[in-house]
Amino acid sequence: MRIEQDLKLGFKDVLFRPKRSTLKSRSQVELTRDFTFKHSGRQWSGVPIIAANMDSVGSFEMAASLAKHGVMTAVHKHYTVEDWAGFIESNEATVLNNAMVSTGTSEADFQKTKDIMALTDDLIFICIDIANGYSEHLVEYVQKVRAEFPDKVISAGNVVTGDMVEELILAGADIVKVGIGPGSVCTTRVKTGVGYPQLSAIIECADAAHGLGGRIIGDGGCACAGDVAKAFGGGADFVMLGGMLAGHVESGGEIIHQDGKAFMKFYGMSSQSAMDKHSGGVANYRAAEGKTVLLPFRGEVDNTIQDIMGGIRSTCTYVGAAHLKELTKRATFIRVLEQENNVYGKE
Ligand code: 5GP
Repeated sequence: MRIEQDLKLGFKDVLFRPKRSTLKSRSQVELTRDFTFKHSGRQWSGVPIIAANMDSVGSFEMAASLAKHGVMTAVHKHYTVEDWAGFIESNEATVLNNAMVSTGTSEADFQKTKDIMALTDDLIFICIDIANGYSEHLVEYVQKVRAEFPDKVISAGNVVTGDMVEELILAGADIVKVGIGPGSVCTTRVKTGVGYPQLSAIIECADAAHGLGGRIIGDGGCACAGDVAKAFGGGADFVMLGGMLAGHVESGGEIIHQDGKAFMKFYGMSSQSAMDKHSGGVANYRAAEGKTVLLPFRGEVDNTIQDIMGGIRSTCTYVGAAHLKELTKRATFIRVLEQENNVYGKE
């Protein structure tokens, strides 16, 4: 047994230190980033926020709405190939360029990904996603997908340490997804005792990825726009959001009426709800590692995404970053023991 003594930080442990800046207004801040990916050589330009591949967030409707803002959606893996064909037929290239095709790592997943990718050249992102990215099987699967799709952008995860980020990039991933345990409906830390504070995971994994020309997605744990800005400040190239984009018309969740108010069901992809829906219940060798919650129904996602983007623009003006790309260079985090003042309730 070994104990690491270094302090590891989450979003709640820091704030940005404001800096003198020549920016006069938030409107001067550019959130669009241009990436050329390491293995595929593909270029992509957009706002690097991604709706999570959860079936009460990453729907086709979410992809169509968020693409209007240049924002991406990792579409969940439970749509059929026929569903994809319909989606492709009724949407232009911009929406498809901003949609990731999610997949697990089984033989059936591989065949399905091939069938979906064969439908159109406009789909360029593949998101290989398993809860525990430390399995050797993921590395082998990434190699196999890279061999099959040399010119597609491949994301793989989830991991939280630099060694595994490097291994996945060397195996063929352009992007590594980072986060174990921080998610809003995740119970991994409670069920298993495993995890890593998300801001430190981002800082350490970004450093490892960037050294090899790879990119990372900070996945999970953002509860407000300030957290999204902190993730970018820590070095995340992309930030993935579940809970912050759940509860909307486009989220694809079930609307429930209670006491005259509307709510939407939101659940983790390893929760009892998800396993009942997609796998015929929780297998007897495993435990559910996700929660099911009811969120107040929040209408269309447009307002929410604009609010998030407005918050990040504001962060950039406070630290003097004219472009989102500069945010991490301009970021000095101060460690804190308090965040917002809750005297009149939480924002
Ligand atoms: P959020 O933005 O809601 O804090 O986090 C979203 C992320 O939580 C997802 O992208 C995914 O990585 C993770 N997640 C989703 N469902 C589950 C689950 O059932 N269990 C765990 N451990 N993580 C989950």
